[in-house]
Amino acid sequence: MSERKTFWPVECEAGEPDLLVCMSCLNEVFKRKVPMPDCPACHGVSTYEAFTLEAIRDWGTDPLIEKAVRANAEVEQPVPSTPALGLELPAE
Ligand SMILES: [Zn+2]
Repeated sequence: MSERKTFWPVECEAGEPDLLVCMSCLNEVFKRKVPMPDCPACHGVSTYEAFTLEAIRDWGTDPLIEKAVRANAEVEQPVPSTPALGLELPAE
């Protein structure tokens, strides 16, 4: 990691789509944040739209799905009382 990326936080309601995908290159996905000032892959501005992991699994490419899964697991959140999705949790 040579430089630290800067992100805008994106507020998402619980249960709402919270994975932000670049609709220009379909190559970057971040959870509840978008890179600033532009997309690191295609340098598009304001190209990010929110999707659920399920939606991304539906139409995304394998690398995008992999990134989405990683982004989804990366943010630590208070554990909800009921599992929201049938996601596999890291075995730690
Ligand atoms: Zn992009």
